[in-house]
Amino acid sequence: MSTTGVDKLMQGYRRYRDGDYQKSQPLIEELVTRGQRPDVAVVACSDSRVDPAILFQADPGDLFMVRNVANLVPPMEEEGTYHGTSAALEFAVLGLGVKHIIVLGHAHCGGIKLMMDPDPYDSAFKFVPAWVSMLNAAHRRVRATMANASLEERTRACEQNAVLVSLENLTTFPWVRDRIDAGELQLHGWYVDIATPELSAYDWEAGNFTPLA
Ligand SMILES: [Zn+2]
Repeated sequence: MSTTGVDKLMQGYRRYRDGDYQKSQPLIEELVTRGQRPDVAVVACSDSRVDPAILFQADPGDLFMVRNVANLVPPMEEEGTYHGTSAALEFAVLGLGVKHIIVLGHAHCGGIKLMMDPDPYDSAFKFVPAWVSMLNAAHRRVRATMANASLEERTRACEQNAVLVSLENLTTFPWVRDRIDAGELQLHGWYVDIATPELSAYDWEAGNFTPLA
């Protein structure tokens, strides 16, 4: 970030301290005293244009946020040590008892673009291709079933499939499955077109994304 970018943050912080913070101080005091108890965890992309707190006009304490490249949830894996996304979800479900997990996909996702066509990117990229490779099977399905579709349509299909892969991977965690079975947790797949900003939700019965009114 340039110095200008940091300066803008400092100005923003001062506006927050003297404005919104003052307004929400009673709420924040309660959240500090009684602890956070969010109903909703959101898995969103790290993309600077997709901020769930802004999109949903959320207040402090509303959203437990997990953000990573391409809003992905990996499958449950025992090996390895540093599972950042899995740790955040474990905290949300086991620690905070969230009742909903929303996987929020979005249009114009750089991570999905890289997964579909790694060539234009610098070969120095190592972690991102490995991370988004969990979508390779979904990408192959899109290529096979949408061979005549435009690149834009295939990209959207990959972005929406990333949401479905994440939802599927969520159910590989036993504490997610147990809570769904007990009726204590619901999973949601949402997709936002940042330019318009149309929000769609995955319809489990229809098997497609339907725009929300
Ligand atoms: Zn993205």
